[in-house]
Amino acid sequence: MIKLKKLDQPASLKQNKAKWTAELLTAIENGNKNDIRSKKNKYNRPDVKEQLKAETKEKCAYCESKVTVVAHGEIEHITPKSARPELTFEWENLTFACQKCNGKKSDKEGIVDPYVDLIEEHLFFVGHFLRGKTEIGRFTVMQLDLNRAELVGDRSDQLGVIADTLEKIANEPNVRLKKLYINALSDDLDSCKPEYIYMKWSAIAQYKNYNVSHNNQRKE
Ligand SMILES: [Zn+2]
Repeated sequence: MIKLKKLDQPASLKQNKAKWTAELLTAIENGNKNDIRSKKNKYNRPDVKEQLKAETKEKCAYCESKVTVVAHGEIEHITPKSARPELTFEWENLTFACQKCNGKKSDKEGIVDPYVDLIEEHLFFVGHFLRGKTEIGRFTVMQLDLNRAELVGDRSDQLGVIADTLEKIANEPNVRLKKLYINALSDDLDSCKPEYIYMKWSAIAQYKNYNVSHNNQRKE
């Protein structure tokens, strides 16, 4: 998970949000299930989904996998619409997620919010394993199953590539080339397009600090 920033609200939401919300709340009050069903899915518009995909660089907001390579991906309500139906069409409450994370999150609240929370306060990587630093972090990892086998396998492969690149940089005798390699790697991650950026930055931070922490350990 990485920090995400809201882009501008799409036109269809801006124009219809108040009307759609009022209609849905009336349908809920009347208790007609068919009516509720037909009213609650109106956020599912192409312009909404496209803007959310742009926001997350087509990655799942929770597991950071590139969703659109293999699936259409889903519009996800950060605060579940079952708990807060009045937020069903609220732009700030929408994001883009893979089917697996969306399904596992279901109607649960108390998940780390990539738009609001400081990710590094709640979550950290040890190699390719994601761990929680706080109760909300641990709950997020467990509830969304963020160390599921296919994720761990994919992250392990990509961490291997980063490890090879860092070793190449470390062993490059030409200082100017060394700088170019590390800048290229940083620029690639800064674009936020690659998968699993938080894990990759953690590996790079470890590489950069290795000598310092190693020396400190030896002094003790
Ligand atoms: Zn996901």
